[in-house]
Amino acid sequence: MFIQIYRLFQVLNRWKSKYFFAAFLLILSFVMLSLEPRILQFAVDRVVAFYYQGNAIASPPNDLISQTLESLLPGLSENAPWIVLLGLAGIYVLLASLRGTLTLVASAQSAGATEGALKEMRDGLFRHIQRLPLSFFTTMSRGELIQRSTGDLVTVGNFLGTQVVEVVRLTAIFGFSVVMMLILDPLYTFWAVCLTPIALILSLIFFQKERVVWEAHEKESDLLNAKIQENLNGIRVVKALSEEEGEKVRFDEQNRRKLAVALRHVRLHSFFWPATDILIGIQMIIVILYGGYRTFSGQLSIGELMSFYSYALLTTWPMRHIGQTLSQMGMAVVAMERLHEVLSSPEENLDGDFPDAPVVGEIEFRKVTFSYHPGETPNILENLSFRIRPGEIVALVGPTGSGKSTIINLLLGLYEPQSGEILIDGRFIHTYSRRYLREQIGVVLQTPFLFSTTIRENVAYTANDPENTDIDWATAVAQADRLREVLEDGFDTVVGEKGVTLSGGQKQRVALARTLLKAAPVLVLDDVTSAVDTGTEQAIFRGLADFLYGKTTILISHRITSLQPAGRLLVLGDGRIVQDGSPEALQRVPGYYRDIHLVQVDLESEIIEETTSRGFQENHLYKAE
Ligand code: ATP
Ligand code: MG
Repeated sequence: MFIQIYRLFQVLNRWKSKYFFAAFLLILSFVMLSLEPRILQFAVDRVVAFYYQGNAIASPPNDLISQTLESLLPGLSENAPWIVLLGLAGIYVLLASLRGTLTLVASAQSAGATEGALKEMRDGLFRHIQRLPLSFFTTMSRGELIQRSTGDLVTVGNFLGTQVVEVVRLTAIFGFSVVMMLILDPLYTFWAVCLTPIALILSLIFFQKERVVWEAHEKESDLLNAKIQENLNGIRVVKALSEEEGEKVRFDEQNRRKLAVALRHVRLHSFFWPATDILIGIQMIIVILYGGYRTFSGQLSIGELMSFYSYALLTTWPMRHIGQTLSQMGMAVVAMERLHEVLSSPEENLDGDFPDAPVVGEIEFRKVTFSYHPGETPNILENLSFRIRPGEIVALVGPTGSGKSTIINLLLGLYEPQSGEILIDGRFIHTYSRRYLREQIGVVLQTPFLFSTTIRENVAYTANDPENTDIDWATAVAQADRLREVLEDGFDTVVGEKGVTLSGGQKQRVALARTLLKAAPVLVLDDVTSAVDTGTEQAIFRGLADFLYGKTTILISHRITSLQPAGRLLVLGDGRIVQDGSPEALQRVPGYYRDIHLVQVDLESEIIEETTSRGFQENHLYKAE
């Protein structure tokens, strides 16, 4: 447990000096506070007693504080009680304002340091998340990650911002009050704090329980967040399938679970606070009874009793607050652990070797075996081998789920194969820095993703200098330039979250334009024209012809029209390459390619026959944007 607490306080490392300064100011402010009961004592025993009882305690008590007060005040004389009292009041106000100012500066210091520490932590967390391998995101849901990067960070922040200095403040209050009480009467002091150890033990038990309950609470919050996140991501599907009620029921269930732990949390608190209050009440009764006895028996003056009582009251403050501090610390420790879990997951090696010569584009897979969950699910690729020469345009085909996109994931180093090797230009890909490797491969992923910004910014996403990037060229080749006229603000139209305001085919074309601008020596187009009509598709490939020249290209598609530029086909089946050859050759031998070719060509001629016989112009099919 100490290591967890240590981790929590480590966040403050760079900001230590600010916290120390704030703590120092707080200690100073409590020196002032601790003087206040003594002024009261002086007013009663010296001033009031002098005038009321007629010199009952004529000479000042023999301690530094009383003597200083005595020397600051106008001399006690027959006619001036109010002047003396006003003088005392003046000192009191001065001390109080000084104390207020010190507390103010201290809180500003610690709050500033906390915000700084939190920002640093948020930055670190975000940077780390960017560098986590893709496999991490299959183990932790987005909802959970968001809860950790926001809710847990706030919990840690609340503790650091309010409770760290509070610990110093409470210790100072307790320490000073006890010292002041000891000066007045050591035996009485013993009785006045005799229940403090019990309060401390109670608080420690509370701390332990708080950790357990809060951990459960955060887990349920994760699930609830994940639920909301998933629902919002899939809101179109929910609506289209009219599943609002079903979603509500599923949400209710999770919400109820969260409520159950939240109530456990509340119950814990509602037991602890009254228990401490009762303890404090008993403590104060002891103080009053024993103090009364000491005063009756003449061992204490009334002023001393009052002063002592004030200090005893001050010691109850830390007693009550220690529970709150420990409770928040329990929550913060849990939150910190959850953050640590993310922060300690190993990053991808994005840095590393950059080869001297630029990549030419020879790709080789050697007996690659891969499963997303080794041991749990069957291998998706099994001893897969192939070689693509530099500048070759190859089509990767195979039934759905056969592992085409998986091959691309492996080529990009997004996942590691369980055995076998992948080489680019004869060099193992794990010897390249991941960043360099991915810079060499321009890939359009199967599901296009756009950021919620303008089309222009989406296309120029990887460009260092968007102003001078040839967006016009890239969008023209990708047949996305027509969007300029179609959309209200042309390329400056904001496309909404994930490009929600664009059609599937429009999104694909913008994503293609984005990749073209990357100008990498290897190009991978995973089903990029699946949502584009055949006319536009042909236009795209015509535009791409020059661009593809000299680039190693992998095309993936189920549509034979999308494979036309390829001079060689690799057919994937049962986790390996089952056929390898030119389209013309494979068309003649039985197999997957011949099957789809037969079906698609026959289907196409049928459709064309039918549409022309109904009097449609071929163009009509392609015109709609
Ligand atoms: P399609 O033609 O439909 O795009 P594909 O050939 O690209 O199919 P892959 O996406 O490579 O197929 O998927 C191959 C297998 O791997 C599928 O059975 C799929 O269930 C599984 N799979 C894909 N991605 C993951 C993942 N992230 N985690 C676990 N399994 C996955
Ligand atoms: Mg795929």
